[in-house]
This record gives sequence, C-alpha cells and structure tokens, in this order.
Amino acid sequence: MHNEPFILLNKQFLSYNGWNDFSTKIVTGFTTKNGGNSIDGYETFNLGLHVNDDPNKVSSNRLKLSSLLEFPTSRWACTEQTHENNIIKISSEHCGLGAFNYNESIKGTDGLYTNDSNVLLTLCFADCVPLYFFSPSHHYVGIAHAGWKGSVKDIAGEMVRKWNDEGIDSKDIYTLIGPSIGSCCYVVDDFVIDYVKGLDINEGLESPIYKAINHGEYRLDLKRLNEQLLHKAGIPYKNIRSTSYCTSCEEGLFFSHRRDKGNTGRMMSFIGLKEEDSYI
Ligand SMILES: [Zn+2]
Repeated sequence: MHNEPFILLNKQFLSYNGWNDFSTKIVTGFTTKNGGNSIDGYETFNLGLHVNDDPNKVSSNRLKLSSLLEFPTSRWACTEQTHENNIIKISSEHCGLGAFNYNESIKGTDGLYTNDSNVLLTLCFADCVPLYFFSPSHHYVGIAHAGWKGSVKDIAGEMVRKWNDEGIDSKDIYTLIGPSIGSCCYVVDDFVIDYVKGLDINEGLESPIYKAINHGEYRLDLKRLNEQLLHKAGIPYKNIRSTSYCTSCEEGLFFSHRRDKGNTGRMMSFIGLKEEDSYI
C-alpha cells in the first residue's frame, strides 16, 4: 500500500516507524490476528481477556507479544474500556495490573498517557479507532480508544487538552490514526449521525465525513472524524498521519466485530518509550 504508515514487521504485529527519527526508544504498533495460540473463533492471536476466550491462551499470546517487543508485561498498562472519554495519566503504580487478570485492569478508562519511560500503554480493538499521541520534546506518549461513542465524546480532543494543561503546545504533539473499520464497511443510522452532526465539523470539508446512502443509513468515516477532531483541538494537519487499513476488509489480518458478528478476538494497540539501560 502506497504511503501506508504501518508496516507488517512479522506475523503478529504492524509497526509505525515514523517517529523513530525523534526517538530510537519509541515502540508504536498494532497487532494482527495471526501467529498466536487461540482457537474457536479467536484464531489465533487474540489479546482480549474479556471476550470469553481461554484466559491461558490469551496470556500466552500476551507473553508472545511481550517477548517480540522486549517489553515485559510487568510494565504494561491495561484498562477496562467502556466507550467513555475518561483519560488517566499512568505511572509505575499502574503497571502490570490487568496484564493477565482482567478484573485487575484499570477501571473505566479509554485513554491513557505517560511521560515515564518503560511503560507500555495498551488498549484492545476490533473495529474502533486507535489514536496514538507523541510529544518528542516533552517525552510524552498516549493512546486512546475511539469507537463512534468515544469519537463523538471527543476523546481525541480530550487527550490534547490534557496535554495542553501540562504545558504542551498542540503544535508539539504528533498523532497517528490506526487500523479500524473504514467508511467502506461502516454503515450507521440516524441515532449515531445525530451525535456526529452535533460536533459541527462536516461543513466546508472537500469530502464529507459521512454520506447518506439510503433513508436513515449513512457511511461514516471514523478515522476522518477523529482527524478533524484532532485538528479542531489544534493539531496541525502535518502532525496527523492515518492508516488506510480497514479491519473489516482485511479479513486475513484483523478481527472485526462487525464482520464477525460480535464473536471475535481483539487486536492490541501499544505505545511506549523504552529506556534500554534498565533491561541490562
Ligand atoms: Zn472496509
């Protein structure tokens, strides 16, 4: 794919290397559904602990990712995602919780960020939009989960405002929009579109974020919606990259909640800054 920012590094994950010029310590990526141990609808690299897969299989898949990334699970931050726009700042005390036991994960959190090294921020996905944030000058990384609910609650802008409150100018924040369901496969009704209309960002754009295809049926482009929300929060367009991958179209690579009718596994998005010395 031309200009596709995510590169398939091995069976298990895609990597984004666009920020490696700023930092050789940054790890940014998104897993595939391949190269793991799960079976029965979760074939094979399911990383979600909350989808009724065998927890031992999920744990072994998580350990595999940990070893591929050389990022120990004791340094992972894992959350219970609720399609809200709660964002928390992660420090050492949060690390390792929920890596193998979902009940121990950080409650009700769809966005997380840190300025500590050796913390891997993780979230689980099967069609929703992963948003990645990086401020090289301030040593901050962040990640957010934006389905249609998180998108219309503007979790994208919330993250930017949190960082602004910590003294980071929007122009010093770089963002990346990861693999999610595309407008090719995402049809929604008036209930959803009414919320999108409430955001007041479809006007004046060269191509619209949603398009009516039938009475009460619309194609919605969640990636572009989030791109516009990031821009509205002050992120320059040149600081926003976006993937062209659609999780529903790419059946060989990704789980898709819609395509698989709810019975499916989860991919994991991750970002962290390594401090190599601490692993010696
Ligand atoms: Zn598609």
